[in-house]
Amino acid sequence: MKYRHLGNTGIQVSELSFGSWVTFHNQAGVDSAVGMMSAAYDAGVNFFDNAEVYAGGKSEEVMGEALKKLNWRRGSYLVSTKFFWGLNDGVNEKNTLNRKRLIEGINGSLKRFQLDYVDLIYCHRPDKNTPIEETVWAMHNIIEWGKALYWGTSEWSASEIIEAIQIAERHHLHKPVVEQPQYNMFERGRLEGDYVRLYNEYKYGTTIWSPLASGLLSGKYNKGIPQDSRGSLKGYEWMKNMLTNEKKLAMVAGLEPIANDLGCTLSQLALAWCLKNPFVSTVITGASRVEQVHENMKAADVVDKITPEIMEKIDVIFEVKKAEEEE
Ligand code: NDP
Repeated sequence: MKYRHLGNTGIQVSELSFGSWVTFHNQAGVDSAVGMMSAAYDAGVNFFDNAEVYAGGKSEEVMGEALKKLNWRRGSYLVSTKFFWGLNDGVNEKNTLNRKRLIEGINGSLKRFQLDYVDLIYCHRPDKNTPIEETVWAMHNIIEWGKALYWGTSEWSASEIIEAIQIAERHHLHKPVVEQPQYNMFERGRLEGDYVRLYNEYKYGTTIWSPLASGLLSGKYNKGIPQDSRGSLKGYEWMKNMLTNEKKLAMVAGLEPIANDLGCTLSQLALAWCLKNPFVSTVITGASRVEQVHENMKAADVVDKITPEIMEKIDVIFEVKKAEEEE
């Protein structure tokens, strides 16, 4: 496993990491979480991503129990969580980054994780109704109290991020250091466009999500929706359109000859493709079972085999030039 600096910090994260969205509690209990996290850790993963809202708080509980059982040295791994949607419907408790909610949020998360601190906290979405200054101060205070070590953003625009950085600089507060955007062969816009000035001007890091587009890029949806997949889960019906989109499925099918030539699986190719981008600090992988973790961790071996010619072939399949011309 290789390690990359988390943006402009002294912390290094494994280039492949592991997250619990959808899976923990819904598809994986504590024993399964232990199996997958230890497979990832044994492969060199040192960053485990979570969020308060995942499975209504149960995802943090499952990860916390798993960490207790695994009993790893606390210095050897990083854990994150995120706040925005909240767990309750009260007027100050949902869809917000107000100071009260963020502080209640971190206290609840630490209890569910059974940890003294988490390494990273993210503002899970921007909040147009709270002054960014209030959010920056709250995140700074949480760090000063030792409840978290670094903070970041998720799906914020570059201008919102720059505003937060500038407020922090003005007041000598802890700045946000990392963004968590979606990034995969289908979804490239923000990471390859809007955010470029963040890397150049601030060395901002990125921990990217849904590298397999929820499993679509594994190729398994090309034969219909498998019973044991995310696409069949109750509560995730909204994802079906994306997972059965014929144009997208045809693009995935177009990758098969490339994966065959490289001697890897489609999942490994899709993950390795994300790793080719030097502005990606870590690719957060997801899995519902341990076999997928084993397969996905081998993606790092594929990166050097992906030549510029192969990158171009992939761009043609995903109609990248065409999309740019139409803009
Ligand atoms: P992926 O796009 O990689 O999807 C992961 C899912 O794909 C797995 O749960 C599994 O689902 C399937 N899969 C994984 N590996 C394989 C394989 N080798 N073969 C076949 N199927 C496979 O990532 P996620 O969407 O899970 O996102 C990763 C992480 O990013 C999350 O856990 C979370 O931590 C973070 N995230 C952050 C968000 C944000 O807003 N900040 C939003 C979403 C995610 P199954 O077996 O059920 O089909």
